[in-house]
Amino acid sequence: MKKQFAIIGLGAFGEAVALELMRLGYDVLGVDCNEEKANRIADNLTQTVIADATDEEALRELNLERFDAVLVAIGEDIEASTLCTMIVRSLDAKEVWVKAITDIHHRIVQKLGADRILHPEYEMGLRAAQSMAHPNMLDYISLGDDYFLIELRPGEQLEGRALADLGIDRDKIHLLAVKHGPELMLAPAPEHLLRRNDHLILVGDEDALRRFAETL
Ligand code: ATP
Repeated sequence: MKKQFAIIGLGAFGEAVALELMRLGYDVLGVDCNEEKANRIADNLTQTVIADATDEEALRELNLERFDAVLVAIGEDIEASTLCTMIVRSLDAKEVWVKAITDIHHRIVQKLGADRILHPEYEMGLRAAQSMAHPNMLDYISLGDDYFLIELRPGEQLEGRALADLGIDRDKIHLLAVKHGPELMLAPAPEHLLRRNDHLILVGDEDALRRFAETL
């Protein structure tokens, strides 16, 4: 059966999550107390409801237990966010995701039983800093404990060079794949010659990855 998600709060963040889940082919219910916001997005979601997310009866009518995950994407009004989180949790939602904007907000919704707590502005800030510092790093995933998975775009001056000659510190970094457009070459041979628009997918220690990225 198709997965179903509920997004409560259709501000810039909630709307982006809701539309992306629709694009991925899932069913999405959007909830917002602001009639104008709800109506603006209504044609693009499976269902849209205008309701106050702090009203327990209104939320009960949505049968939130049928959704695979419910995201509380109310940021500014911490009281509304925490109250809504408490109600959603008590209504047996399977998984509760919450957008938090401060440390205290985070700690309260954690205590209330949120399964995942997101800090979009903070997380985006970290990504922006990484991209500014390393413009040839196209994407990354932090694996924790200073390990990262990254996608690097080598400079054009390296075109025609063999992977074996790039100076990868093999004790600390592993080259997983070369991505070229839609094609992914797993475990590429050391003698593979870099082509224009080849991207390197690497995993390893942060400092070693940073040193390597700076040589590209
Ligand atoms: P974003 O940063 O995602 O753009 P925002 O700053 O525009 O958010 P927030 O205060 O975080 O606004 O609220 C996000 C959405 O949640 C808004 O569309 C707002 O109308 C809605 N919202 C706020 N309080 C409630 C509530 N009690 N019930 C339902 N929706 C609410």
